[in-house]
Amino acid sequence: MITYFDGKFVDDAEAVISVRSRALNYGLGCFGGIRGYVSADGAQLHVFRVADHVTRLMHSARVLHMRLPGSHAEVCGIVTELLRRNEVRHDVYVRPLVLNGSTKLAPVMREEDSLFTVYCLPLQRYMDKDAIDVCVSSWRRATDNAIPARTKATGLYLNSALARREAHDNGFDEAIFLTEYGKVSEGSAEHVFIVRDGVLYTPPSTEDNLDGITRRSLITLATEDLGYKVVERVIGRTELYVSDELFLCGTGAQIQPVRTVDRRTIGDGAIGPVTRRLQEHFNAVVRGAVEHRRGWLTPVWT
Ligand code: PMP
Repeated sequence: MITYFDGKFVDDAEAVISVRSRALNYGLGCFGGIRGYVSADGAQLHVFRVADHVTRLMHSARVLHMRLPGSHAEVCGIVTELLRRNEVRHDVYVRPLVLNGSTKLAPVMREEDSLFTVYCLPLQRYMDKDAIDVCVSSWRRATDNAIPARTKATGLYLNSALARREAHDNGFDEAIFLTEYGKVSEGSAEHVFIVRDGVLYTPPSTEDNLDGITRRSLITLATEDLGYKVVERVIGRTELYVSDELFLCGTGAQIQPVRTVDRRTIGDGAIGPVTRRLQEHFNAVVRGAVEHRRGWLTPVWT
């Protein structure tokens, strides 16, 4: 594969950084996660909301005293150019990364130490099940005032990895974090939606979770296209147990229905009607089959 690394498109093997780098030693960096989808007719590859992903990456960089190598448009262009150079004609995941490349000892953030790289990989499903079993993690989400959860900071994923490991050790597929205050925050790499009496609820991004793009997209699709009511509000742990439907969402996970939480069955254990409708609509949107949502898609092939 070809990878963009520090200003050039190079062979993957050449995209390497020092073991001494602050990025490795202290987890100093931030990243994005973007999907490209083959169109319904198979002729085009569309990148989903690339402009919004690049904006979020720029925001993460700003919070963390890092910088990207060019303008917003230039960074979007690197993503599409990478897909062209790799001749990607399948569903794909793109990972832009801003790393602290300094090999000096102390953990300090400096804009000028930023190193930018973008790689891609084929990706179909993130989780290999139609509906998953999740637990509430014993690990709390890192607060925005400790490691800013609003950003996609590399070091923050130690928190996610601990929660996922604990979940797997206990026979679950995924974990949901609570905030320090015991309210629902997010999954290890997904946001949480519940459905009660036909209304969708999701915690606001001030509940120590990522400024999520799938979450934002689903709020738009649910309210504007499908006529559902969506309420962003604080959600308590036990509300998860009594929800009619529950799903996780994210660029990787897309819409991932949840079957049980802490061994309590959600609804009747089957994928609920609201989740199903949203899934179908979301899939149609990302494949370019919904005319008025084509603005979210950037074609790779001309
Ligand atoms: N939360 C975390 C911690 C994540 O890593 C992700 C994946 N990017 C999400 C939520 C979902 O966000 P998005 O829809 O922007 O991919």
